[in-house]
Amino acid sequence: MVEFSRPILTLPNGADKLLLHSCCAPCSGEVMEAITASGIDYTIFFYNPNIHPQREYLIRKEENIRFAEKHKVPFVDADYDSDNWFARAKGMEQEPERGIRCTMCFDMRFERTALFAAENGFSVISSSLGISRWKNMQQINECGRRAAGHYNGITYWEYNWRKQGGSARMIDISKRERFYQQEYCGCIYSLRDTNKHRRSQGRDIIRIGTQYYGDED
Ligand code: SF4
Repeated sequence: MVEFSRPILTLPNGADKLLLHSCCAPCSGEVMEAITASGIDYTIFFYNPNIHPQREYLIRKEENIRFAEKHKVPFVDADYDSDNWFARAKGMEQEPERGIRCTMCFDMRFERTALFAAENGFSVISSSLGISRWKNMQQINECGRRAAGHYNGITYWEYNWRKQGGSARMIDISKRERFYQQEYCGCIYSLRDTNKHRRSQGRDIIRIGTQYYGDED
């Protein structure tokens, strides 16, 4: 791994603790190490009812718990209210990634994060979602700001986790930790569309629970 001197990050408004929504271990690995290196007090909030099937959800969650325990970071395991997610996704089943279904999906996850923050004394929220190059950072930030805006005194921390090599370190950390490598964004529709694309390329469809970072090396 390339030597890198991490900058000291500070939370907005002089806040002293952060509620960090995490989507998975690979995306949060670099984010967590950056925050830990800055001495910021933070808690992981795992709320991802979009992930389907439940087997995939549990694998992603367990990987994230394992890494949080390693860093001794508190981990909040929130609901898996997938019925609510499907209800909100109704009519958006055919939408492409980065479209309105994804806005709904980010909104839902940020709304619950902001609610938990408001009820538990956190004034700043953020998420690991934006580190992935597959995602639209502007779309994610708009959802984060919208959710925080529902509460007085809650700020969405809009830090760009990709910069200064963050995306590359995300992969390096994932390989070092041999994280489970999810091969689709998370919902049943992204699984369907990824498999459709693979079939069109003559590739095998996704086999859940089989791929780990570093295997390809
Ligand atoms: S593609 Fe990803 S972000 Fe979009 S709705 Fe599905 S799980 Fe959510």
